Amino acid sequence: MDRKKIDLTISCYGKTKDEKYDVVILPWGAIEPHNFHLPYLTDCILPHDIAVDAAQLARERAGIHCMVMPPVPFGAHNPGQRDLPFCIHTRQITRQYILEDIAASLYNQGIRRLVILGGHGGNDFKGMIRDLYIDYPDFLILATNWFEIISGKDFFEAEIDDHAGESETSVMMYYHPELVKLSEAGYGEVKNFAIPSLNKKIAWTPRHWDKASTDSGIGNPRKASVEKGRDYAHAIVEKLADLFIDITKHKLY
Ligand SMILES: [Zn+2]
Repeated sequence: MDRKKIDLTISCYGKTKDEKYDVVILPWGAIEPHNFHLPYLTDCILPHDIAVDAAQLARERAGIHCMVMPPVPFGAHNPGQRDLPFCIHTRQITRQYILEDIAASLYNQGIRRLVILGGHGGNDFKGMIRDLYIDYPDFLILATNWFEIISGKDFFEAEIDDHAGESETSVMMYYHPELVKLSEAGYGEVKNFAIPSLNKKIAWTPRHWDKASTDSGIGNPRKASVEKGRDYAHAIVEKLADLFIDITKHKLY
């Protein structure tokens, strides 16, 4: 199929003007270091590429018309992370305005289903979406993170597999092997809090990245492989395609 009909990053007006779109997918990532071996835009590239594959599958299987927007690169970052070169922290209110403006434009164009596909665990859209329902009660807005759709436990070996770890590295190796330099990766060792209750997750506060990690990664990526990344990505794409089909075919209640 013509990818220009489902991927706005490479699309043009001639491909979009006569299409009626059922679902718009908004990949949302961050600009941040990913250990020494993955690109700064990893959290933008992966949700984008996964969304395009899922959009294609939903179209082939059920004739659902999806458009994948260019990823939003502005995320939230922890203390100590913003001090690393070119890591860009944006305030919650900045991201809320960005989402409100995107929603307003799409709504004006007749779009009534929006799926935010996150690639960065530090972002949170729930409060923003609750607010958007005040102004747009008939606009279905959903949010999910690609790496939370299916547990990586059945696909990967590393006990700690968080930031730039085995799963994220594997999926990047599948989509963009040319962007991964695994031989340059640090070990992604993590230093826990000195407060035991915080390690038991009795309460939450952000990890201070300069203390928690030495190479900006959390989780050893060395057992990553293209095959693991492919199997995990395919499983996620299946679930996402089902989601796009479901929300088009069913009312919310
Ligand atoms: Zn990431």
